Amino acid sequence: MPAVMSATTGSMHAENVVLRYGKQTVVENASIRLSPGEITALIGPNGSGKSTLLRSMARLHEHSAGTITLTGPQGQPREISTLSGRDFAQEVTLFAQSHATPEGLSVADIVAFGRHPHRRGFAGLSIADRAAIAEAMDLTGTTSMSRKAAGELSGGELQRVWLAVCLAQQANMVLLDEPINHLDLRYQVETLDLVHDLARDSALAIGIVLHDLNQAAALADILVLMKHGRVYATGTPREVLTAENLTEVYEIAVQVHNDAASGMLRVEPVSRHRRG
Ligand code: ADP
Repeated sequence: MPAVMSATTGSMHAENVVLRYGKQTVVENASIRLSPGEITALIGPNGSGKSTLLRSMARLHEHSAGTITLTGPQGQPREISTLSGRDFAQEVTLFAQSHATPEGLSVADIVAFGRHPHRRGFAGLSIADRAAIAEAMDLTGTTSMSRKAAGELSGGELQRVWLAVCLAQQANMVLLDEPINHLDLRYQVETLDLVHDLARDSALAIGIVLHDLNQAAALADILVLMKHGRVYATGTPREVLTAENLTEVYEIAVQVHNDAASGMLRVEPVSRHRRG
């Protein structure tokens, strides 16, 4: 088990959540549960509300109706808006899609941001802080860049640094908004493997937005398929990734079959050049 992660875990439940930008409702009556040791992937077309729903679970977008609760191992459900910022950040971390790059700061300094909810006032880094930072950098392959300035990094390298910030936070619940979209093939696979290990070995509850349906099928225990701000289907990959559901939601012919070699589900959109 990665020592950077604690083993006391809780779950999060968003129920009948409504989310708005101004007067426009973009998510309606959405329900989703994140459980310890389980990977829940949000999938669906652009603009279907995945990021906004994930951000609401990270308290970055206030819900207009419904409830979002956190339940500790033995505790009662608590509405996330009632927790202090520090308590919430010890429970939940978000990997967001975009960040302002602090150009002049070193990678090690940026990863240290992740220890914010564990530090008191202006105290220096504790032994536990340093251990968590070192392990988060090790897990994300960022140790060798620790002295580099953020401004010198590529987009993919920076993306791994922000992932290290999340892991250094040692939260029980990890929310990831398209964490692999700027990564090359190797780091896509390594990042998804890491997410898998965080759930299986450290029993963290993971919520992840993914675009690639085959990657989602291979990684997730539960899929939440969204369409126009509503949850269209929830269940195991085999329950959700049917040709019927995907053709309806993505508005393009989609075939789903079992790959004989890997035994995995394969989703293939049908290009108009191949339609007879
Ligand atoms: P997804 O993650 O599925 O692509 P989003 O949650 O980003 O979808 O967006 C859901 C809807 O909310 C879309 O219609 C989008 O245009 C709208 N939206 C997203 N961000 C904003 C914003 N900052 N202001 C107004 N509308 C927004």
